[in-house]
Amino acid sequence: MTDRNIVLIDPNDRRSVAALLLSAEAHTWGKVVSRETGEIGWAVPSQRFIGLYHLATADSCTCTDNRLGQVCKHQRAVRIHELLAHAVQRPRRRRLHLRPVPNEEETYD
Ligand SMILES: [Zn+2]
Repeated sequence: MTDRNIVLIDPNDRRSVAALLLSAEAHTWGKVVSRETGEIGWAVPSQRFIGLYHLATADSCTCTDNRLGQVCKHQRAVRIHELLAHAVQRPRRRRLHLRPVPNEEETYD
């Protein structure tokens, strides 16, 4: 298990509380796919600057907090969102290959 699969929610840590609140709004995020790497990121709305977005993945973010070396609330929110999305994915329905019952006349000719 890598570090990105671990999300600690500490009610005394403002980043983790903010991340939990942000992740509840994940349905409003824009999904972004890197043309170069295929990596999936999310456009997470800035709470300070309305109309601006931070490009966040589980491992990176474009916000100031992240540039200062913190695992920011956006990254944490992405981790929570991706872990929850993975946890609720339902297994694909197994395809059954049905074969018709052979006609008795054809079978016993
Ligand atoms: Zn951030």
